[in-house]
Amino acid sequence: MAEKPQPVVVQYCQVCGLPPEYCEFGPEFEKCKPWLIQNAPDLYPDLLKAANANEADKVADQLQSTGISSADSGGSSEAKQEEVKRLPGGKIKKKEKKEVIIEKVVRNKRKCITTVKGLELFGVKLSDASKKLGKKFATGASVVKGPTDKEQIDVQGDISYDIVEFITETWPDVLETSIFFIEDGKKVPAA
Ligand SMILES: [Zn+2]
Repeated sequence: MAEKPQPVVVQYCQVCGLPPEYCEFGPEFEKCKPWLIQNAPDLYPDLLKAANANEADKVADQLQSTGISSADSGGSSEAKQEEVKRLPGGKIKKKEKKEVIIEKVVRNKRKCITTVKGLELFGVKLSDASKKLGKKFATGASVVKGPTDKEQIDVQGDISYDIVEFITETWPDVLETSIFFIEDGKKVPAA
């Protein structure tokens, strides 16, 4: 009795009806893919790889989202601590002291300039203030960039004797207690 050859089970694609190895030439390869991955992975190793990659992406996404949520809940105290640590440095920068600093600077021996810094902190437009100061003291005044790149007003001549009164009268938001002079490198309250 001759051995019967094992019948070859030809499996046809459930989607397009072609033998699986022909699916990629068929009209609905995209639709075939899921079936092929399930039933003929050996024929299309690339499909399987792609599917695995997708799975890996999904897993990565999930890991990422759980990582975020755990940071939200469990890591909150840690985050707070960091925030507190950061505050002192940030605070100084943010809450710049609102004060006007007036300094008499002598340049080229005889040329005296009175610098006014900080008016902008009180909402004063420096170009406007410069004009007013120049007019009031009948001198030249201009907005210039100071040593720290911050704008200040340079007024020609020594006007420190009555600039405080002028400032407080012209810009009532600037209190006399917020005005300081720099004298011999020291900050001296004007009030
Ligand atoms: Zn097919």
